[in-house]
Amino acid sequence: MIREKAIFEVECDRCQSPLGYADDGCAWHFDTHQAALEELTECGWVQAANRLLCSDCVAKEACALLGHTWGDWEPVERFAYSGLRRGCELCGAGELDPPPPPLVFVDLSNPPSDTRDWRWFDDEQEA
Ligand SMILES: [Zn+2]
Ligand SMILES: [Zn+2]
Repeated sequence: MIREKAIFEVECDRCQSPLGYADDGCAWHFDTHQAALEELTECGWVQAANRLLCSDCVAKEACALLGHTWGDWEPVERFAYSGLRRGCELCGAGELDPPPPPLVFVDLSNPPSDTRDWRWFDDEQEA
């Protein structure tokens, strides 16, 4: 038997991420409006008036209002960068000290003729 049935999904009003996507990669379905409301509350979502924010957007809003909750600085060595990194325990934002140099994109169809100032990964590792 094929039967038509109503289902309920929950979607963040800011980022449009569906409830369930972070865990299972797809939207969770609920049989009732009440069941959806109970689950979103348990997952850290917030309902204000008739708008919903997912837990990620709640964390980003809290950090925007109150500032980040930084963890400890830890050394990081990745590619040609060496320095310190700390992450926000609430929203996951990261910060580097010193700030990384700006990315430089090279047009490979028209490479610069003077490459004396190019710094290669292997050269910096040995320095
Ligand atoms: Zn969101
Ligand atoms: Zn934060």
